[in-house]
Amino acid sequence: MKTVIRGKYLFDGEKLLEHNEVMIEDGRIMGTGSSLRGDRLIDLEDSFIMPGMTDAHIHMSGVESGNLVMEYFTVAERDRLMRTIPWLHKLLDSGFTSVRDCGEGNSIYLRNAVKNGIINGPDISAAGIPLSQTFGHGEFSHTVPVDLSEHMGISEICDGVDECIKSARKVLRDGSDFIKIFSTGGVLSQRDRPDHEQFTLEEIRSIVREAEKAGTYVAAHAHGDRGARNAVEGGVKTLEHGTLVTGDTLKIMAKQGVSMTPTLAIQELIVRYGKDLGINEWGLEKIKEVRDGIAKVVPEAMKLGVNLLCGTDLGFFTGKDIDMGKNWMEMVLMTEICGLTNEEALRTSTGNIQKIGLKQGRIMKGFPANIVSIDGNPLENIRDLGRVNHVFKKGVQIR
Ligand SMILES: [Zn+2]
Repeated sequence: MKTVIRGKYLFDGEKLLEHNEVMIEDGRIMGTGSSLRGDRLIDLEDSFIMPGMTDAHIHMSGVESGNLVMEYFTVAERDRLMRTIPWLHKLLDSGFTSVRDCGEGNSIYLRNAVKNGIINGPDISAAGIPLSQTFGHGEFSHTVPVDLSEHMGISEICDGVDECIKSARKVLRDGSDFIKIFSTGGVLSQRDRPDHEQFTLEEIRSIVREAEKAGTYVAAHAHGDRGARNAVEGGVKTLEHGTLVTGDTLKIMAKQGVSMTPTLAIQELIVRYGKDLGINEWGLEKIKEVRDGIAKVVPEAMKLGVNLLCGTDLGFFTGKDIDMGKNWMEMVLMTEICGLTNEEALRTSTGNIQKIGLKQGRIMKGFPANIVSIDGNPLENIRDLGRVNHVFKKGVQIR
């Protein structure tokens, strides 16, 4: 059965089209046009129609406060997994029909459950358990026994090329869609700093090689420039955060087609509400430098042509104006903090996603019929992204 969805405006993930209708059949987009003839018409009148959005950096952890260490060590893994089910519903309801989980064991099982129709949720591209060096960001706590984070399924610890190869193969065997590594220290880890280099260039190369052999890629967490440069030279495909990278590194990224996920939402959240949310004092102490850094990096990345992705880095329930289900706030922050135009911001959750190889984010023949309609026009007012009124996933009306 051919269904035509009609609105007032039609944004295809790259630009506003002249016409205002999409034809879908069997969960796929057949094409766009005006006065299309189908078996059924869904007239959404004054709505703004766009592709379902993707949050390209999320953690389906089920954690309910900013005190990650405490929660990971006191809440059973299966309880955390169950807590993420309402998160999936919120994401879908708010127009996010796809997410990329950048490090969390739960994500593998959630991906499978969504794929098999057991639960409703966005399509999940899952990193599974991320790779960290000893005394790395992936440990969170640097005072508990070093192998505890592995036992808890927080990260896979590996040092030296041989161990990196083995860990890469292990997570791929466990079902990771891509591999997440930490190539610098971070904010929410206890004793390293965002500018600390983690993993060597050789270690990163060996992980990238294993990923490529299995037909996939590596995403690297990186704040400081030296660690980010290692990641980029090592061949990663996406750089997560990138808060302190230099223009030279951005130039290489643009040339090699490395995408960047600035994750403004988590930084802004910690700056605004960190203490209230139970963020450890080490996190509160380090947040300012990365938040100030990213405000300068993103406009330069944009100017140099680096592909930017919308990713909130949300991994715990906040109850604030930046939260699971309000992931569109990332795009608001891109315009407010980094000066992107509304259209540039909108592309980060739609058309730019396609460039990392996910079949998402476009209203184009052959793409899954993941379509969202909005009451308003986010090209004029970016906050209209919070006014989603219909959501279709693979052609099925969810909302
Ligand atoms: Zn993250």
